[in-house]
Amino acid sequence: MHRRGQPAHLTVIMQGTLYLVATPIGNLEDITLRALRVLREVDLIACEDTRHTRKLLTHYGISKPMVSYHEHNEGDRAPELITKLDSGLNVALVADAGTPLISDPGYRLVCQAVEKGITVTPIPGPSALLAAISAAGLPVSSFTFAGFLPAKRGARRARLRELADRDSTLVFYEAPHRIKAALADASETLGNREAVLAREMTKLHEEFLRGSLSELTGKVTETARGEMVLLISPALEDNRIGPVKGSVSEEVDRLMSEVGLDQKGALKRVARARALKRSEAYRLMVEERSSKKNRE
Ligand code: SAM
Repeated sequence: MHRRGQPAHLTVIMQGTLYLVATPIGNLEDITLRALRVLREVDLIACEDTRHTRKLLTHYGISKPMVSYHEHNEGDRAPELITKLDSGLNVALVADAGTPLISDPGYRLVCQAVEKGITVTPIPGPSALLAAISAAGLPVSSFTFAGFLPAKRGARRARLRELADRDSTLVFYEAPHRIKAALADASETLGNREAVLAREMTKLHEEFLRGSLSELTGKVTETARGEMVLLISPALEDNRIGPVKGSVSEEVDRLMSEVGLDQKGALKRVARARALKRSEAYRLMVEERSSKKNRE
């Protein structure tokens, strides 16, 4: 990308650049023009699984030397790649899917590159995290991405308890064989909050399951399949079952004016947050409105 073709006496010893290239999370069309150009132009592509990345490269007619870079060889591979970058080669790091480093290998390499003053350039694109939070319909002004929950129940519950008071939407990656247990633990430790399970995004069977944590626990089977992101609404009073401050009608009005829901949608949310039947929430709302009118 540089240096080549320069007369020898003008050659400046330059370090290469480390590009962090985001690749599709399912749909192969989800790759940027810049990502394709960089993959075509770099000297070397470091990837989690060379067979997996080869399929992507072949799809786009790109042929490039590849080297594996995964959690089991990061310790040796990172300094080797730094040496190559130092010698002037440009290297692209890609994950199997999505953005490198986001619950994927690369942190060690980026730290060493930063330490050495090597230019690190992100080539932004797909990430399951951002795809899920953007489409979930849960608060987005603040969210906590907590990666994968621990596999063991005790540790998982402890982690959930640590996150319980965050006033932000919680986002987790989860494996299909653990999702039912994770939902049940979340419901018990966080309260029965609103949640969304974003499954197989950008793929043929993409779906967003919405409901309270206990509803989702009931919907998901032990043999759930596919890739999934779990999103749980913030630790606000209204997301918990049990006595909730404020009237039903005020909360319905707030959801209508602030979130733009219609009355039916707002009532559904409020009923769910308070573990009421929708008919019961409706009755309360009507009663509250008429007694307010009488007071005025
Ligand atoms: N670095 C990737 C990214 O930026 O999204 C994430 C890698 S992490 C090892 C893989 C996890 O991401 C999966 O277990 C799943 O939780 C989530 N994931 C990846 N692709 C997905 C998709 N198409 N739909 C839903 N979740 C997905």
